[in-house]
Amino acid sequence: MIPLSFEFYPPKTDEQREQLDRTARRLKAHAPEYVSCTFGAGGSTLSYTPETVRRLRQEHGFEAAPHLSCVGGTREEIRELLKLYRAIGCRRLVALRGDMPSGMGHAGELRHAADLVAFIRTETGDHFHIEVACYPETHPQADDAHVDLRHFKAKVDAGANGAITQYFYNADAYFQFVDDAHRLGVDVPIVPGIMPIANFSQLRRFSEACGAEIPRWIARRMQGYGDDADAIREFGADLVARLCRRLIEGGAPGLHFYALNLARPSQAVLARLDLAEDRPSLAPPA
Ligand code: FAD
Repeated sequence: MIPLSFEFYPPKTDEQREQLDRTARRLKAHAPEYVSCTFGAGGSTLSYTPETVRRLRQEHGFEAAPHLSCVGGTREEIRELLKLYRAIGCRRLVALRGDMPSGMGHAGELRHAADLVAFIRTETGDHFHIEVACYPETHPQADDAHVDLRHFKAKVDAGANGAITQYFYNADAYFQFVDDAHRLGVDVPIVPGIMPIANFSQLRRFSEACGAEIPRWIARRMQGYGDDADAIREFGADLVARLCRRLIEGGAPGLHFYALNLARPSQAVLARLDLAEDRPSLAPPA
């Protein structure tokens, strides 16, 4: 049985909260191992993430992992958040450097995610299972792929228990990255991050910012569909399901879906995967 996880962002309005509740109820049918909730850099969602994590745990019964980033924050602020997450009952975190909105604020007292992982271990010992981020197509600010891989290893050496990748549409990039990481001595599970395709122009903007490549043939096919949203959804779900199948067959230890508070795009992919036999609760797309 392949473990699943879903990533949400913290809602800020009542309408967004209702949408997250609906999504959480639908995705619950897929029995995820855990769900996670992003954390906005620069303090903008300082209280929204803990609130959302509490809600996902208490109202929906998920194991919920807050993302925690160090950019723009002080050690004291991070210490307070760690206390809060312990008090809520969290046992899992996703530890990140984060991105500062351009032109805003200061770098923070901890510069890199590896420093944050080390800080969490010093403050809380083995209380939290810590996931970190990694980049099969290389982080956009890295000098080169080898240096970036060594920085990833530093996070594992600092005490991370697992990693979630940035999304990608080229399975070979993932398999090469995992092989390279193993050769360097990284022995934690590296779970592929899966971005279902819901809105192609939004995905293109996202991808430019985070350095994920959309292969030319996929972009050309998407352009060819023009405004035909149904065709884009169908093609996108087939494509991402095929990617997931290759990843599972190639030994990926789990699938982490960037659900973005929507159920349908992830469900459309999951409905195409033959996970039903070991996952009887798999629900059809709602
Ligand atoms: P790091 O691991 O610190 O790496 C960042 C860059 O610094 C890389 O180029 C790396 O090679 C380089 N580097 C690392 N160590 C050193 C060193 N010692 N010396 C020099 N260079 C170094 N962002 C958010 O703001 N909130 C979120 O909730 C969030 N969730 C995410 C979840 C996942 C699964 C992923 C993949 C990304 C997420 N992000 C989030 C985005 C992430 O914060 C950005 O990609 C950010 O630019 C890098 O974060 P990191 O933790 O990978 O940083």
